[in-house]
Amino acid sequence: MAMAKLVIFTDIDGTIMDLTTFSMDPVLDVIPKIKEYKIPIIFASAKTKTEQEKIRKRLGIRDPFIVENGGGIYIPHKYFNFSLEKILEDYFEIKKTTGYTIVSVGKDYKKIQSILKEIKSHTNLPFIGFGDLTAKEVSRLTGLSIKDARNAKQRDFDETIIIDEKYLPKLKEELARYGLKCIFGGRFYHIMDKRASKGLCVNTLKKLYTKKYNDSIITIGCGDSKNDLTMLKEVDIPILVEKKGGGFTNISLPGLIRVKGEGPIGWKNGILNIIEKYHSNN
Ligand SMILES: [Mg+2]
Repeated sequence: MAMAKLVIFTDIDGTIMDLTTFSMDPVLDVIPKIKEYKIPIIFASAKTKTEQEKIRKRLGIRDPFIVENGGGIYIPHKYFNFSLEKILEDYFEIKKTTGYTIVSVGKDYKKIQSILKEIKSHTNLPFIGFGDLTAKEVSRLTGLSIKDARNAKQRDFDETIIIDEKYLPKLKEELARYGLKCIFGGRFYHIMDKRASKGLCVNTLKKLYTKKYNDSIITIGCGDSKNDLTMLKEVDIPILVEKKGGGFTNISLPGLIRVKGEGPIGWKNGILNIIEKYHSNN
């Protein structure tokens, strides 16, 4: 039987990228090895398409990627040698743009913004969305450069908001009425379609890879926080790296591998260990 293909799904913030220094150096060390084995690396992150494109370019990655916490998937044209529409159009909205087929899980950014506006007008809840701020203001709040803040503002599927925790229950109640949900991304809250999840997108890509490779695949997932749980549940080998400042997020999952090392350091150790073991046994 042909050897099963490894496929890596990974979070970005706090996993392949240090949360405060934004360094990816340890990951850069292992990318050549992963490429040598032709293992796809699929990002599953809160980051936008534009933000992820920058990182893809830096690491030389050309695989599909999951944006904005599972709001959608970008698949480069001709990446899969079969029609995506036939397989996916019953479940998702499929759109073709320059360079990519976009698989949308739920409501788009414009729709979400207009719902938030409506909620604000009838509840007076005090929250503010990145869409209502200038790049300069986002930069000041996040520590991102102006250019990176501009990229962070270009959203397709989820709005990032700033809100005092005490107003959350009321906001969540309102969001539910519109088919939206709110999740905590580590620093800010994200408003998105209730169907959006890293797990659903990972599951969808798993189906495509299984078809692409004609037989079995072995999936690895790597994350650092609670918002990676749906992704970790979908993979064969779930890996948790240490969070910023050390220690692990409290996640329990059968077979979960906790790897020593914060963020990208843990990623390097965990991934290297698995691919070397796998390729030396096969
Ligand atoms: Mg993270």
